[in-house]
Amino acid sequence: MTRSDLASRMLIGGRFEAGGGAALPVLNPRTGAKTIDLAEADDGQVERAVGEAARAFDGFARLAPGERSGMLLRLADRIETEAEAFARLEALNCGKPYPAVLRDEIPAIVDCFRFFAGAARCLPGSAAGEYLPGHTSMIRRDPIGPVAQIAPWNYPLMMAAWKIAPALAAGNTIVIKPSELTPLTALKLAEFAAEIFPEGVLNVIIGHGHSTGQHLIDDPRIAMVSLTGSIATGQRVLQAASATIKRTHLELGGKAPVIVFDDADIDAVVGAVRDFGYYNAGQDCTAACRVYADARVYDRFVADLASAVGGLRYDRADDAENDLGPVISARHRERIGGFVARAAEAPHIELLAGGRDAAGTGFYYEPTVIAGATQQDEIVRNEVFGPVVSVTRFTDTDAAIEWANDSDYGLASSVWTRDVGRAMRVATSLRYGATWVNCHFMLANEMPHGGLKRSGYGKDLSLYALEDYTVVRHVMVKLD
Ligand code: NAD
Repeated sequence: MTRSDLASRMLIGGRFEAGGGAALPVLNPRTGAKTIDLAEADDGQVERAVGEAARAFDGFARLAPGERSGMLLRLADRIETEAEAFARLEALNCGKPYPAVLRDEIPAIVDCFRFFAGAARCLPGSAAGEYLPGHTSMIRRDPIGPVAQIAPWNYPLMMAAWKIAPALAAGNTIVIKPSELTPLTALKLAEFAAEIFPEGVLNVIIGHGHSTGQHLIDDPRIAMVSLTGSIATGQRVLQAASATIKRTHLELGGKAPVIVFDDADIDAVVGAVRDFGYYNAGQDCTAACRVYADARVYDRFVADLASAVGGLRYDRADDAENDLGPVISARHRERIGGFVARAAEAPHIELLAGGRDAAGTGFYYEPTVIAGATQQDEIVRNEVFGPVVSVTRFTDTDAAIEWANDSDYGLASSVWTRDVGRAMRVATSLRYGATWVNCHFMLANEMPHGGLKRSGYGKDLSLYALEDYTVVRHVMVKLD
């Protein structure tokens, strides 16, 4: 990929422009080398982007759903046609293996736009009727207004799609800011969006969180802020929202428990944790990172997992051979290393695989298995967001459920057993936005994704996301 293949300009109204603010160098996590020097949006550009979104709102909100649907379908087609280019750019953006982006992410992104294109035309709701004599009531679901969307770096294009598709389907206008670490695919998406949507409907600006991002969410014209990011940033969004009572939609971190009973298909669990504890180098809020294994199968599970993880490929020159890529930055790798080093100091911990920075250039960290962890250990309680899985032994079901729920997070979980009744009882007791039985990390655009507790609230995907980007209104007509 050459410099000229990189989209580098922001989209504000109908215009493409370079940022006028602080420098924003974009690094390639596979090598640590600089991919491109960009500049963040300055305050005036942020304000103009919000102004454009506000100006475009009335017209876009009034379009028939079928028209908005057609635009979303065209965008889906464009992404599908450019799948290879998008996948290469996303691999460069965040270091993940290109074949995995092409195989797993791009089709899901295309399908996300197509799902919301369809959903735009069939928003469900209550029937209109006469609830007072001589008066007809109807319930409307209308768009909210200009929405600020703040995306993270772990799935830059997919998180942008999860935000943009339902918000536009519902008739809102948008100013989206991708992560300062991974702005490249959002900038490319802006080029296609500009060909399809009316001016100002989708604005893409880049910049750091504390400057560009904060200025955006503080703008009083913004009616809603949607964030996928950390708990700390979620708290800043809530503070900013309080000034003008903005709506908020927060997808924050996760620390997914994986409960493995003695009758589980151990090979299947090992395969799933190998795949979905380490997918995207574990930088996934649903990663299968916190295993609770029944004492009767613990030894076998831990031995098999260590051996499976030891076979993961991650720093081969040929990207097609890699199961996972590097982590996002040197700073993030240091943070992951800190968690593992502190865990390894405890005498009860066994480090069975990995545990170090990988040799060579780039921000690689060895896929790591930490066994013998206990519920109070930091490695069990805090989100590492890297290729690190802890395993804890349990002896009774109630303790496993209690430990699984004993977490600040509440996004995703899984239960592994051949006993359907037990699976249902445990699934019912878990306080997580999603519980998978005998699988993990399976997403469908028709199904909601979102958390409880400090994992945030608001749903991505599904009709619930479309509802989240609308406001319920009552219109009553006196008949005589
Ligand atoms: P982050 O909170 O540091 O950054 C997320 C985004 O917020 C970035 O675009 C950043 O620039 C922006 N931001 C930071 N401070 C801001 C401010 N003051 N005002 C406005 N914007 C600001 O998180 P991250 O490190 O990019 O992403 C990792 C986190 O995201 C993890 O905790 C992970 O679990 C979470 N995550 C959650 C989900 C989910 O669906 N629940 C999905 C992906 C990632």
